[in-house]
Amino acid sequence: MPTAMDTYLLEHALKAKGFMPPDEGDALFAAAASIADQGPILEVGSYCGKSSVYLGAAARTANSVVFCVDHHHGSEENQAGWEHHDETVVDPRTGRMDTLPMFRATIEDAGLEDVVIAVVATSEAVARWWTTPLALLFIDGGHGVQPARHDYEKWTPFVQRGGFLAIHDVYLDPRKGGQTPYDEIYRPALAGGRFVEIRELSCESLRVLRRV
Ligand code: SAH
Ligand code: MG
Repeated sequence: MPTAMDTYLLEHALKAKGFMPPDEGDALFAAAASIADQGPILEVGSYCGKSSVYLGAAARTANSVVFCVDHHHGSEENQAGWEHHDETVVDPRTGRMDTLPMFRATIEDAGLEDVVIAVVATSEAVARWWTTPLALLFIDGGHGVQPARHDYEKWTPFVQRGGFLAIHDVYLDPRKGGQTPYDEIYRPALAGGRFVEIRELSCESLRVLRRV
């Protein structure tokens, strides 16, 4: 099992626009690298491809792939007037957010086009037709109650036995961040008894669970 991420890919992950702090990115890579030989990885919520590079680096070590599901029009919290808005990701033609060009550039510059597979659609549309078991599912999509509940209910059944469910933005303390991933994904996954947390692989708001 590789311990360190390829330095060229790490450089690209660090400089990509996005919402994945370096220590959590390292943890995401380590978790994914330890399981990537078991099957494909799927990410819900890619934005400009920052987390996709960490996952892609892990997939490459095992000759696996990462499916990156995102409609690229941003979550509620990325829209104008919200906390996580960046006006450089707005398409002047439509006035809507469009992170697909940045995602494509990130993956192309990192040299990961053979490993990272963009699926440009809503999580809902893809989950409805998905059938492939996953070695690792990373949920970092919409943080509203409905999208989070959807991603928990429709995507987590695809994590194969022994596979990992990684959840981003899980805050036990409401003063540190929104409670939706905690309430709608992390807690139900553990309460249902289908998953157990792997504390050694979790880091800050990135929680890594194993399917039992
Ligand atoms: N993982 C990224 C951050 C993701 S931000 C990083 O490392 O930087 C959340 C993303 O989820 C946004 O790009 C948004 O477009 C996407 N998203 C939100 N709701 C979605 C839905 N219902 N279907 C598909 N993508 C969605
Ligand atoms: Mg996040």
